[in-house]
Amino acid sequence: MKQRTRLIHGGISGDPSTGAVSVPIYQVSTYKQDGIGKHKGYEYSRTGNPTRHALEELIKDIENGEAGFAFGSGMAAINAVMMLFNAGDHLILTDDVYGGTYRIMTKVLNRLGIDVSFVDTSNINNIENEIRDNTRAIYIETPTNPLLKITDIKATAELAQSKNLYLIVDNTFSTPYWQNPISLGANIVIHSATKYLGGHSDLVAGLVVVDSGELAQKLHFIQNSTGGVLGPQDSWLLIRGIKTLGVRMEEHERNAQEIVAFLQQHPSIKKVYYPGLKTHPGHEIAKKQSRGFGGMISFDVGSEEAVEKLLNRVKYFTLAESLGAVESLISVPAKMTHASIPKEQREKVGITDGLIRISVGLEDIEDLINDLKYALS
Ligand SMILES: *Cc1c(COP(=O)(O)O)cnc(C)c1O
Repeated sequence: MKQRTRLIHGGISGDPSTGAVSVPIYQVSTYKQDGIGKHKGYEYSRTGNPTRHALEELIKDIENGEAGFAFGSGMAAINAVMMLFNAGDHLILTDDVYGGTYRIMTKVLNRLGIDVSFVDTSNINNIENEIRDNTRAIYIETPTNPLLKITDIKATAELAQSKNLYLIVDNTFSTPYWQNPISLGANIVIHSATKYLGGHSDLVAGLVVVDSGELAQKLHFIQNSTGGVLGPQDSWLLIRGIKTLGVRMEEHERNAQEIVAFLQQHPSIKKVYYPGLKTHPGHEIAKKQSRGFGGMISFDVGSEEAVEKLLNRVKYFTLAESLGAVESLISVPAKMTHASIPKEQREKVGITDGLIRISVGLEDIEDLINDLKYALS
């Protein structure tokens, strides 16, 4: 089955008992048992719910994994994955990870004895040099947020395997439509489904896919024990969003390519970050491991004042956190998503005060370019 078909026919389709073509919302907490321990596969909705199960089967299929798990947010998904580790374990993470990931590692999980190193994983030597006796996993984002740096998933997976480490990939930016890390050797894939998978700025959710029965068992135990599950309404809404992921991603990318071309020739723009650019340092690897470059663009306008001016004048780019929705969103990483990263650390990785990140939406491209043209004039 091709990916675009799988988005619609993967997982569990419809409801065999009524013929409904959409999976019903099973708004229920508990299930009648015919005798003690005798049930139809569901006992209690924290442990399992049919609507959530349909979503979990769908994400498993479209990420080519062994099992899927749905959580109440991307952070709850990340937290559950981190519960695989023990006090005294060490993890290596990409240095410009999502701000919330940086925060949970350095302000919450550090208190429980999980140790981390942040390195530029786009250079595999940096990862290799950081591996210690107690290192248990490599955790990467590619493309990264917001500089869209690329890490070679296959090479990192080979390194991880040779050292007996898990490779965990936050695949939020690429989505399973463009990139499937498990097929490249990763063990665990994480999504903030709040972004492209949901796609309409109307829900908060997180998903995890694992590549083995052993990890599936462990993660289900953690999901059931810690309880951060996604409710049936949001599970249904997410299934609905995923059905159109293919058409949306194609269009996000088409619009993004045109905006990149516009920004590149504009005299007020100091730098444009987009993995689809031949001049982007990760371009060749991105081309090899992904089927598309996505709809996220970052660019540097040089100063906080220039950022201020642009923000005051744009009409169709909504100033907001988040990304991946039908509406174009604009954000200032240094002040918003990455505010929890100390300024010194931020500037070291290139997240300057003049950096703007846009999530290109599905509006008419002429309107979007005219909007930016006016805002930059
Ligand atoms: C938003 C985001 C998260 C966190 O997900 P939530 O759904 O907001 O909890 C994690 N990783 C990346 C790359 C994100 O963009």
